[in-house]
Amino acid sequence: MGIHIKLDGREKELEPGIKIIDALKEMDRKLAKAAIGVKIDGAVLDLSHSLQADANIEVLTGDTPEGLDILRHSTSHVMAAAVKRLFPGVQVTIGPSIESGFYYDFDKDEPFVPEDLARIEKEMARIVKDNVPFVREELPVKEAIGKFKAMGEKYKVEIIEDLVKDGPVEKVSLYTCGDFTDLCRGPHVPSTAKIRAFKLLDVAGAYWRGDEKNRMLQRIYGTAFNSEEELKTHLENLEEAKRRDHRRLGKELDLFSFHEEGGPGLVYWHPKGALIRYIMEDFWRREHLKRGYQFCITPHIARSVLWEISGHLGFYKENMYSPIDIDGQEYILKPMNCPFHILIYKTRKRSYRELPLRWAELGTVYRYERSGVLHGLLRVRGFTQDDAHIFCTPDQLKGEMIKTVNFAIYMVKSMGFENMDIFLSTRPEKFSGTPEEWDRAEETLKTALDEEGLPYQVDEGGAVFYGPKIDIKLRDALGRHWQGPTIQFDFNEPRRFGVTYIGADGGEHQCVMVHRALWGSLERFFGCMVEHYGGAFPLWLSPVQAIILPIADRHSEFAQKTAEMLQERDFRVEVDLRREKVGFKIREAQVQKIPYMLVIGDQEMESGKLSVRERKAGDLGAMDVYRLMDVMKERIADRT
Ligand SMILES: [Zn+2]
Ligand SMILES: [Zn+2]
Repeated sequence: MGIHIKLDGREKELEPGIKIIDALKEMDRKLAKAAIGVKIDGAVLDLSHSLQADANIEVLTGDTPEGLDILRHSTSHVMAAAVKRLFPGVQVTIGPSIESGFYYDFDKDEPFVPEDLARIEKEMARIVKDNVPFVREELPVKEAIGKFKAMGEKYKVEIIEDLVKDGPVEKVSLYTCGDFTDLCRGPHVPSTAKIRAFKLLDVAGAYWRGDEKNRMLQRIYGTAFNSEEELKTHLENLEEAKRRDHRRLGKELDLFSFHEEGGPGLVYWHPKGALIRYIMEDFWRREHLKRGYQFCITPHIARSVLWEISGHLGFYKENMYSPIDIDGQEYILKPMNCPFHILIYKTRKRSYRELPLRWAELGTVYRYERSGVLHGLLRVRGFTQDDAHIFCTPDQLKGEMIKTVNFAIYMVKSMGFENMDIFLSTRPEKFSGTPEEWDRAEETLKTALDEEGLPYQVDEGGAVFYGPKIDIKLRDALGRHWQGPTIQFDFNEPRRFGVTYIGADGGEHQCVMVHRALWGSLERFFGCMVEHYGGAFPLWLSPVQAIILPIADRHSEFAQKTAEMLQERDFRVEVDLRREKVGFKIREAQVQKIPYMLVIGDQEMESGKLSVRERKAGDLGAMDVYRLMDVMKERIADRT
């Protein structure tokens, strides 16, 4: 009796016990050659696995996410094999695949240096060329421990011992690739020739099991792709990301800084950065007023008792700073603005007639982040949220959601983000409020998104305990994802504070409360914008929109007059009066990413026209100053 194997709609009867690779060869030689692994009933398996029963096989090639994962994980083993050959005393720990590559952590006294990486890569290339098979074996726990002990791999012994502690384990799987054997669940490529394109990227220190009390290990990061071309594109993207790094551009363009003596994670906005932020805030306020929002301004600290009522001292305490003593009373820096807006709401009874209330505030909050995770503007300890709270009746909810989602999309598009993905997070295991309330709220959010024809993905159980939410993730110029707008329901705080309104029936009802931040943190969003634009902000946001470059001293007066004329009409203009060659001045203005460079020499003074260069387009030729102003005005209005 044979077993029935299905592949891509085809079916064949084969001998039980046949290896997957042989089954594939019988059914589709081309696919068998391209296969890296397979998926059967959701489980990802090696090609060496044998088939005992009917199965529906899905082939994983290097073009599939799972196939790429196997490829990368296998490359990490090849790297470990190479390291063991070149540095015999080194002990291996773990080496998983990660989002865009893989790493392996080694116990080695001295850190790896760049020359080491080159040598390791060479050795890896040799192993790949030799087409070494990956061989899987399953050993009883005791035997495996004995084997790794004999090899002197104490981390592997520790991992197996921990596995046993966690539950009954009889056997573990080992993979051998040439002279290197690793404890590993797999799956792996059948042999190293499947690895086509790889590169080692970086070294870093990493504690064993991520715990600072443990030994510091040496981590090597690398990546692998299905083709040399894909690898090349990836490496170019990495270079481009480095060039666009907001921390680097922040310095080069004089936008912001951090100070050791001021404390880590606290941002200092320099005049140019602050100017961009001022323009953004100004735009933000006008757009909010257009949509029926009102503004609040609230303190930065509040008595602990407020945070007790709100519940933050319970579930959010580790993100809050220690109390400040004022006249024997405890005050805490605010990590959120919500309780403050609730206090304003509760200053009097509210009727259904005055709802919805949409209260916005550029509220600066302080949250504790471990120093190790701080990262430029993206992870900081003090930041300003473009926050708002919507208080409404259940009936108004859907309408408010549609408005808010569209507003959110408008606000990020206005800042140059055309591509985004929407996520809806639903009820987790532990939650506040009733299941009915959650169902209704989730249904409303879904309906709002559906009615607007917005595609979204559902993150089942991914919400925080106090309510479902919509997250919009932005995709930047390099295709990377960034946290964008959040629209968050809250069943918790309105209850804790007793946020109610008087309904048409004269009775008191629970208010629906929604928190929303469109740019999120101004700091993080700004960092994201710097990288998205690569520092070349559109004209309306550029701190200096045009720079005037006189060729010689005799052109200075005319340059100054032209500058004043533009300034009077609200253009942000600078004059470079330094006695430098004009070519040098142009190059510097390019580095500063100033949109327009206006060169003035004898010819320009005579004709009364300016010689205009645009940052991207280059030389635009001679232009009358009024014509230039019209062009600039148009671009500013279009926000391009
Ligand atoms: Zn492994
Ligand atoms: Zn809030």
